[in-house]
Amino acid sequence: MSYNRKTRPTVNECVEGILSGDRILLSRTITLIESQLHEDNQLARQIIEKIMPYTGNSTRIGITGVPGVGKSTFIESFGNLVVGQGHKLSVLAIDPSSKKSGGSILGDKTRMESLSKNENAFIRPSSARTSLGGVAHKTRETLLLCEAAGYDVIIIETVGVGQSEIAVHEMVDFFLLLMLAGAGDELQGIKKGIMEMADGIAITKADGENMNAAKKAKAAYQNALHLFPAAESGWSAKVVTCSANENTGIREIWQLIKDYGKKVKQNGYWQERRNRQNVAWMYEGIDEYLRTGFFNHPAIKSELGKITKQVENGQISALKAANHLTQIFEQKSING
Ligand code: GDP
Repeated sequence: MSYNRKTRPTVNECVEGILSGDRILLSRTITLIESQLHEDNQLARQIIEKIMPYTGNSTRIGITGVPGVGKSTFIESFGNLVVGQGHKLSVLAIDPSSKKSGGSILGDKTRMESLSKNENAFIRPSSARTSLGGVAHKTRETLLLCEAAGYDVIIIETVGVGQSEIAVHEMVDFFLLLMLAGAGDELQGIKKGIMEMADGIAITKADGENMNAAKKAKAAYQNALHLFPAAESGWSAKVVTCSANENTGIREIWQLIKDYGKKVKQNGYWQERRNRQNVAWMYEGIDEYLRTGFFNHPAIKSELGKITKQVENGQISALKAANHLTQIFEQKSING
């Protein structure tokens, strides 16, 4: 298909391109989603509405773990297996650190090298420099675009260091927690709540000298999981060991995800979880709309810098400043 690279693609170009699996138009539409420009977001919204009937047909997998646990190596190995079985895989990332550093650790080009060369794999790091809520919202929309483009396995990766796991959990069907053997939970910064959310735990780097420690960790985590209340899904989280380096345990994890899917599709939980996620998505959409509408409003843009300085200097209280700005916004919105 021919289209001008410099101007924005039209809604129909994007829709047709995505539905025919055109990776360039898929990427360009994701860029519209991630854009800070209101017009781009509006365009993206129209595209998403049109592709909605073609979404929903993937297995959405969330993967989290502390930096160094082996996420990218695991995804490379797991991804190659899945793609090798004829699936189309998309790897998206929610990277809470990108706001600060500007550059995303998940965007490192050397990560997932062989997978990124595979034409049936689409890897997209998060580049949005916005609030976690904003990134999560954009990732959810990106996920839908990938589904419409025919990707039937979607991985959403995040660094396990805080709130982002919850955001990921709210948009996936299966949540996989990667853990290192030998490091205490407190060292890994993994909270009990995160373990409770997991549908599966994989102890990584179960190879060489680390093998015994990995087996011990597996038993310990399995015991710990027994103490949690039964999950609504009727599925009890499983713990496995794996080595991405030696390609062991990877197949078992894929099987586990498929077993999970089968079970919860039968008992209705799969759809129930997605329905609940749709409600969360609606709220995120409202938040995002109000936030961008507010901060992009010319009246707010012109006042915000001045008022921020006044708060910094103690000339006005934070509460007064917030009231002042929201009043300006309300008046201008009513009066146009
Ligand atoms: P991430 O930060 O969670 O994405 O972790 P990486 O995938 O970048 O891996 C961190 C380090 O662990 C790298 O030096 C990898 O080579 C190493 N690593 C990853 N997977 C394995 C594994 O299965 N076995 C061993 N022994 N090392 C691994």
